[in-house]
Amino acid sequence: MKPAIPPHILALEPYVPGRNIDDARRESGRERVVKLASNENPLGPSPAVLRAIEREAVNVHRYPDGSAAELSEKLAARLGVELAQVVLGNGSNEILELIARVFAASGGEVLMSEDAFLVYALVSQAAGAYSRRVPARDYRHDLEALADAVNDKTRIVFLANPNNPTGTIFRRGPWRKFLSRIPGNVVVVLDEAYFEFVEDPEYPNGLDYLQDHPGLIVVRTFSKAYGLAALRIGYGVGSLEVMGALARMRQPFNVNHLAQVAAVAALDDREHLRASCELVRRSRRVFAAGLEQLGLSYVKSEANFVLVEVGDGAAVTQRLLDRGIIVRPMGGYGFASMIRITFGSEEENQACLSALAGVMEAVAEATEPK
Ligand SMILES: *Cc1c(COP(=O)(O)O)cnc(C)c1O
Repeated sequence: MKPAIPPHILALEPYVPGRNIDDARRESGRERVVKLASNENPLGPSPAVLRAIEREAVNVHRYPDGSAAELSEKLAARLGVELAQVVLGNGSNEILELIARVFAASGGEVLMSEDAFLVYALVSQAAGAYSRRVPARDYRHDLEALADAVNDKTRIVFLANPNNPTGTIFRRGPWRKFLSRIPGNVVVVLDEAYFEFVEDPEYPNGLDYLQDHPGLIVVRTFSKAYGLAALRIGYGVGSLEVMGALARMRQPFNVNHLAQVAAVAALDDREHLRASCELVRRSRRVFAAGLEQLGLSYVKSEANFVLVEVGDGAAVTQRLLDRGIIVRPMGGYGFASMIRITFGSEEENQACLSALAGVMEAVAEATEPK
């Protein structure tokens, strides 16, 4: 006799993260490797965050504040919501997971776009839910098709705005229409991990729509614009009822002490946030111009990365790695001909574009008929 492993757990395929820098150094034999594969902040954390962590490091023998009172109060005030409308997570990934476990466990149906962030399908499957992927349209969530796909078994619709890995957004008009079509008993998850980077004036701020739908949960993170990816901290905002359910489900100490003090310091350093967003916006133009010059087509992005058509995504990823640049192949999303490049520092962006020029030239030579 052996322990029985449930079929939905056996079928889980773990999330494949971006390649880490140490492995890439070893594999490429290069001292200097540039990682542009995980949508991280090239400026690093705010200096105020580093000071807060140094100051608080001596307290790691203590359990953290389970209610994260200082951070929660600061966030609620900043966002203009009640304290109990905010639930913090060990990364926003934990919030997504809590939502799936609370609302769709054991056979509930979950909807998402086929090009959506893979974590939605993973957390749903792990919770024993059944996920349905609705065809995307031109690298965008098809909100009409998603609303059409809702039926009486639907428990959750996951949306990312901007989406990862496509970088595309949906605008206010289609979003309002979508939300009005979703029954009140369905949870709508609006993942705004890249919220801070968007330039489009028609981009909807999810918090403005909390009154319009009782099941709306806006999810944000400190991993991207705030540069705290390693500390694992994110949050959800929604109605008191819905967030109360998530709060009952979470572990008592799910957000560690250093993450809490770092997030407080990060919220206070508005200059670092401004500089981070400014760099992303500049990089967007640098890549647009650079990719056009190389004759490569790409998906217009409102996030801190860009999806580029390169022919053979896996091969180009390997050739870029040989030149010391880590990017993300996109076969896992069904985009085998594409790579996703995260914007880096100005110097890293230039290094990436010139490596890409060399690689595309080498690929063209290798495939040219002799
Ligand atoms: C990076 C990312 C997150 C953030 O994950 P954390 O767990 O907060 O680090 C969430 N959603 C999307 C779409 C992302 O790309």
